Amino acid sequence: MQRFKALLATRADAGQSIAWTELAESDLMEGDVTVRVSHSTINYKDGLALTGKAPVIRRWPMIPGIDLAGTVAASGSPEFKAGEEVVVNGWGLGETHYGGYAQMARVKADWLVRKPAELTPAETMAIGTAGYTAMLCVLALERHGVGPKSGPVLVTGAAGGVGSVAIALLAKLGYQVTASTGRTTEADYLKGLGAAEVIDRAELAGKPRPLNRERWAGAIDAVGSATLANVLSMIRYGGTVAACGLAGGMDLPASVAPFILRGVTLAGIDSVMAPKAARVEAWSRLARDLDRARLAAMTETRPASDVMALAPDILAGKVRGRIVLTLN
Ligand code: NDP
Repeated sequence: MQRFKALLATRADAGQSIAWTELAESDLMEGDVTVRVSHSTINYKDGLALTGKAPVIRRWPMIPGIDLAGTVAASGSPEFKAGEEVVVNGWGLGETHYGGYAQMARVKADWLVRKPAELTPAETMAIGTAGYTAMLCVLALERHGVGPKSGPVLVTGAAGGVGSVAIALLAKLGYQVTASTGRTTEADYLKGLGAAEVIDRAELAGKPRPLNRERWAGAIDAVGSATLANVLSMIRYGGTVAACGLAGGMDLPASVAPFILRGVTLAGIDSVMAPKAARVEAWSRLARDLDRARLAAMTETRPASDVMALAPDILAGKVRGRIVLTLN
C-alpha cells in the first residue's frame, strides 16, 4: 500500500492543530477516482481554514486545501481513466472532504474537470479557485450585458488573487479596467496585468451614500462590506456588479437606491457548488482568455511545506496575485 504526505488538521479541546503526516491510500475518503496530486494553491478561504479564523473545516480530521491538480491514478468511473490530468475546485474539498494539501486525493468523478490542454497543471493552480471565480464573475458581467463597449469596469481587491486574474481577463477581452487597491505601490504590477487606471481603495471605504456619481458600467468585487456598498452607489445606469468576496467584511451597509433608481444588478457568485456545466465553461474560457505571460507575472511557486507560513499573510492582504504549491 502506497504511503503519501498530507497536511492533517485535527481538533482537540485546546483548539485545532495542523501537521504534516504520512497516510496510506486506505485512509482516503470515499470517491470513485484517486488522483496523484502534483500542485495545489492557497486562497483566502484556505487562509481562514489553516488559521482557524473562520469555521471553514466542518469535519475532523481534515486535509485542508480547496483546490488540487494532478493525474488520475485509479478510476472506477467510465468518465475518467488512469493517466488523465484533472483539476478539482471546491465541492467541499478541505471543508468536509479531504482536500489538496496531500500527495493523493480521492474524490467523486462528478467533481473533476479535465485539465484544458492549453494549460499546464501548475497553471491550473496558478488560476485556482480565485481565478476560476474571477472567470465566473466575468461570465456574469457578460450575461448581464456588460461588454467592453459598455464603459469602464472596476475590480476591487485588485492585487489579490481574484482581483489579479479578473484584471488580466477583462483587459484581454478589451475592457477598460480600473483597479482598486490598498497597495498603491503595486500600481505598476496592476498596470502590467492590464489595468488602465489604479485607485486607492480608501476612495471606496467611506460611509456609503445611497447614490454617488456614476463611474463604472460594471464591477467585480472581492471585498464586500462598505466597499461593495460604495461600488453599488457608483455603478452607471443598468450596470452590474459581480460580488464574490468578503475580504473587507461580510456585511453590506447599502441602500436599495442603485437597484430601484438605476436598474443596477447585483450578481452573486459562488464557486464551491457551481454546477459542472458552469465550471467546464469557465475553464474553457480561462484557457482561451487568460494571457499566459500575465498569469506567470502574478504567480509565485512555493513548496507545499510553506503553506502554514503563507496562511496569515494571505488574510493580512500581504500576498500579491497567486501562489502555486508543489506537492512532490
Ligand atoms: P486575496 O487575499 O488574494 O485577495 C483579497 C484582496 O482584498 C487583498 O489582496 C486586498 O487587495 C483586499 N483586501 C484585503 N483586506 C481588505 C480590507 N480589509 N478592506 C479592503 N480590501 C481588502 O484573496 P482571494 O483573491 O483568494 O479572495 C478574495 C475574496 O473572494 C475573499 O473574500 C474570498 O473568500 C472570496 N472568494 C469567494 C469565492 C466564491 O466562491 N464566492 C471564491 C474565491 C474567493 P488590495 O491589497 O489590492 O487592496
